[in-house]
Amino acid sequence: MPVEIYKGRFAPSPSGPLHLGSLFTALASFLQAHKKKGQWFLRIDDVDTIRVTNGATDSILKTLEAFSLQWDGEILYQSQQKERYEQAIESLQHQSLLYPCTCSRKQLAKINKNKPAIYPGICRRKKPTDTKLPYSLRIRTDDALIGFTDKLQGVISQNIALSVGDFVLKRRDNIYAYHLATIIDDDFLGITEVLRGIDLLDSTPRQLYLQQRLNLKAPEFMHLPVLTDASGIKLSKQRFAKPVSGENPVKMLLTCLELLAQNPPSALSKANKKEILEWAIENWNPSKLSGIKQLDCL
Ligand code: GLU
Ligand code: ZN
Repeated sequence: MPVEIYKGRFAPSPSGPLHLGSLFTALASFLQAHKKKGQWFLRIDDVDTIRVTNGATDSILKTLEAFSLQWDGEILYQSQQKERYEQAIESLQHQSLLYPCTCSRKQLAKINKNKPAIYPGICRRKKPTDTKLPYSLRIRTDDALIGFTDKLQGVISQNIALSVGDFVLKRRDNIYAYHLATIIDDDFLGITEVLRGIDLLDSTPRQLYLQQRLNLKAPEFMHLPVLTDASGIKLSKQRFAKPVSGENPVKMLLTCLELLAQNPPSALSKANKKEILEWAIENWNPSKLSGIKQLDCL
């Protein structure tokens, strides 16, 4: 049998410039792909047009270039993949797995009170012909455990019916949900392993469920710790985390390698970025991050 080529990816949302947390994830997935002598793709998660901000994609590309994190092949833009997402919707519809939902957020918040948002199945019996109102499409979930072994976080399992309920695949404003888009794109690019932040660990069972229903091969998963600020809160664009500056890439790369527990030798501070990346690929050992869920980066 031919040996499968490793294919990884970095998938930023262009809702703002890269911050330290996203650079940390980008570098880890880049190092993993190169260590495995594979390919590293760049995907721009711009399917949720409401969250896209002007100039963010350009700024992300410039920052990656400033750190010499060069991707392979063409960039995949989710906004250009809608036909593929729609085909998946049709295939799930043929399996009678989808139904229209007209519940508003307000209505659901009232029903759920302060409980986490588990969809209570109000519209489960509706057919698209039953409603003239704009509707979202939800997928029926099974009362069954879905499990996988994460390479850093160990065995994870979740009953999605009990912990999230039927979830939305296409919003009423016709925007495809991230869970659907990400699995279609990972399949399209032939991604063999997904490295991303642990904040998406809980979403993985939903993605595995979709992969099963669409007969797609699931990649392997490695969920990295998230970087937190002094108050223990994840660095994010929503919380206005500082954009990374490409002005001193050597210092920044070494900071990221420290955070990734790779212990770069102090002599590397005199090296250039190419030499640093070569050292980092050669010595890359992600198991040093095993079981770590968050890292205070200040
Ligand atoms: N675009 C997503 C994010 O920024 C990442 C999606 C993924 O890696 O699956 O959180
Ligand atoms: Zn509903």
